[in-house]
Amino acid sequence: MDIKVNESIVFLVEGDITKEKTDAIVNAANSRLAGGGGVDGAIHRAGGPAIMEECRKIGGCPTGKAVITTGGKLDVKHVIHTVGPIYRGGMKNEAGLLASAYKESLKLASSKGLKSIAFPSISTGAYGYPLAEAANIALKTVTDYLKEKTDIKTVRFVLFGRQAYEEYEKALKSIV
Ligand code: ADP
Repeated sequence: MDIKVNESIVFLVEGDITKEKTDAIVNAANSRLAGGGGVDGAIHRAGGPAIMEECRKIGGCPTGKAVITTGGKLDVKHVIHTVGPIYRGGMKNEAGLLASAYKESLKLASSKGLKSIAFPSISTGAYGYPLAEAANIALKTVTDYLKEKTDIKTVRFVLFGRQAYEEYEKALKSIV
């Protein structure tokens, strides 16, 4: 499914983000940028050791912020590493921090002149964020950003598995 927002398009696809060919893909990293399981592990496995080497030099990234490296062996020029919140019941500003992770990633992509970006579903794996709520926040934050003037013309949500895809589809239909 896709929708047009201003001069940009938001796509929802089911798949593996390491196969994307956008200008940048976003990694759901941890604050030490230390690598791990889930999408983080998949990106470092597919991208090779150069990305981790750059992460070590950067040193870390606070929750809700984003940093950028090259794409290593991936088909993308850049990986934007952002850190979503660990879900602890919903009263610890998780929603604000999740929105910030998306927004800071978009701002960083804009500042580098990138025109296309692919996101995974941040925080909804090991970090335990309920999928339906996270999907609403992700899509609201991204569509709000695209309503302002931006060079980012393509945003792809690459959802891992049918359930994630369907939750995002439901959320997107509810906000358009
Ligand atoms: P977090 O720690 O932010 O929760 P995870 O990597 O555990 O990050 O999970 C985030 C989301 O990424 C989950 O929905 C998970 O299914 C998904 N995911 C895992 N591997 C991939 C992949 N190769 N491409 C896209 N999404 C992936």
